Amino acid sequence: MMGFQVLETSKLLNYARARSLWIVTFCTGCGGVELPPTATARFDFERFGIISTPSIRQADLLLITGYVTPKTLKRIIIVYEMMRNPKYIIAHGSCPVNAGIYWDSYNTVKKLDLYIPVDVWIAGCMPRPEAILRALVKLMKMVKEGKALGWKRYLENFEFYRKNQDRLFGKDWRKREIEKLRFYIHD
Ligand code: SF4
Repeated sequence: MMGFQVLETSKLLNYARARSLWIVTFCTGCGGVELPPTATARFDFERFGIISTPSIRQADLLLITGYVTPKTLKRIIIVYEMMRNPKYIIAHGSCPVNAGIYWDSYNTVKKLDLYIPVDVWIAGCMPRPEAILRALVKLMKMVKEGKALGWKRYLENFEFYRKNQDRLFGKDWRKREIEKLRFYIHD
């Protein structure tokens, strides 16, 4: 009986999470320009209970909307780690998958999922708002069924992600980034 009640509670929680995903407003690459039309009157992702928030602590979803440079990836990782669990990532456009048209650039991250866990990928350069909506609906379904588990993978395989991050940025990069960010914070 007890087990039955716990299962039902988790189902209810997953349903609630799926119906109110808040997106942190952090755009990368050119794909960010597809988000305003996806959010506004014509395509309107708010009908799914999705809204944008500037607050990292209150957001559930991080959208990576295009190519990522190592410098941007450091900030993405810090933002992702500051978000509360459970949290989800959608990577949008061909660039996060395999660096797209920047495949031979010295300054573009080639495989995003070596550094952070992606739940849903959207291929295309650049994807239309319908494709973004489709990915959002897919993520909602995964959250409802308890299958969007990138945040768990990150915790369980932290050593793997950390090793790849350190290889790209050099050891102690977190400390150096925090020192840099402190420069912008007035005590
Ligand atoms: S996939 Fe295309 S649109 Fe998206 S960031 Fe790369 S080049 Fe820009």
